[in-house]
Amino acid sequence: MYQNVVDFIQELYQTKEFLPLHEPQFFGNEKKYVNDTIDSTFVSSVGKYVDQFEQMLAEFAGTKYAVATSNGTSALHVGLRLVGVDENSEVLTQPLTFIATCNAISYCNAKPIFIDVDKDTLGLSPSKLEAFLQENSFINDNGECVNKMTNKIIKACVPMHTFGHPCKIDEIVDICDRHNICVVEDAAESLGSYYKGKHTGSFGKVGVFSFNGNKIITTGGGGMIVTDNEALAKRAKHITTTAKVPHPYEYIHDEIGYNYRLTNLNAALGVAQMENIDIFIQKQRELAQKYKTFFEKTDIQFITEPKYAKSNYWLNAVLLKNRKERDRFLKYTNDSGIMTRSIWRLMNKLEMFKDAQSGDLSNAEWLEDRVVNISSSVVL
Ligand SMILES: *Cc1c(COP(=O)(O)O)cnc(C)c1O
Repeated sequence: MYQNVVDFIQELYQTKEFLPLHEPQFFGNEKKYVNDTIDSTFVSSVGKYVDQFEQMLAEFAGTKYAVATSNGTSALHVGLRLVGVDENSEVLTQPLTFIATCNAISYCNAKPIFIDVDKDTLGLSPSKLEAFLQENSFINDNGECVNKMTNKIIKACVPMHTFGHPCKIDEIVDICDRHNICVVEDAAESLGSYYKGKHTGSFGKVGVFSFNGNKIITTGGGGMIVTDNEALAKRAKHITTTAKVPHPYEYIHDEIGYNYRLTNLNAALGVAQMENIDIFIQKQRELAQKYKTFFEKTDIQFITEPKYAKSNYWLNAVLLKNRKERDRFLKYTNDSGIMTRSIWRLMNKLEMFKDAQSGDLSNAEWLEDRVVNISSSVVL
């Protein structure tokens, strides 16, 4: 039934062996720079590669500052802390996301509120966001956005650029600005993706990237906080490095901080990967183009970049007709040694978040039944 898809993918990757969903590729200076950290003994929390990696990221994303962290989840956690999310806060986000988004909200002891996604972007829907806020919130005398049902402050909004496809981030920022809600952009999947010519992650007050092994480039494990706000950047550096007060020999910490710094060893890998970021993006886009052409001749729909967006096509995805077809497709491809997987179970259906407040989630539910990720490793 889906043998044509299996044949096409095996031909693309020139293999009949097991095919993982997304493998990292190292064809640049990775070994050289990693060896350099070992030779210099600077493998840990001090070293030139961390600074260099931060500078490269800020320049690439078009933000003034970038602060490296141990992974994308820690970057999100600190990003939320930077805009003041605490136990009295609520945070708007999409139910269709990777668990890290909601874990980070929970680490702040805040509660998520789930807002639907748009079918054309797979990301947070500005129209659903506006409708939810109009019906369920008011602005108090301090200018804060209050949830009518809980009387808590809706402090932040975390839109996510699903699989690298940019959501309608300018409209989301505009709505949040009008409600005094801070946008923390989860751009973990969208390094190299642009919306209306501007890099994702640079629209919100704070943006976050991930360099986990399955992302478009990797540091093994790593993350980045980007912002144009100098005070926030300084604070991000401070609390991700145990809140140590700079001093030549005394050890003093002025608040409870985190050991979330990126090591020099990981940053060395990142610098080498960033040197080839344009190649990674070009190759991912070429791969997506091949899929697009192929699936046009089938009754499976390949998901393409939304209007006004240039996507990194980090993770390719298709739409099956319904849940039954989705399950048949998943079984057939995985049985044939090609790893495919369904999109995430919606966050509001997980045990931890089943009591969270939600708007209408019909688009997310529709997508959950139909979206499947297919082989996305770069073909060199
Ligand atoms: C990968 C990812 C993260 C961060 O993950 P880490 O593994 O902690 O680097 C956060 N949000 C989304 C949507 C992601 O895909």
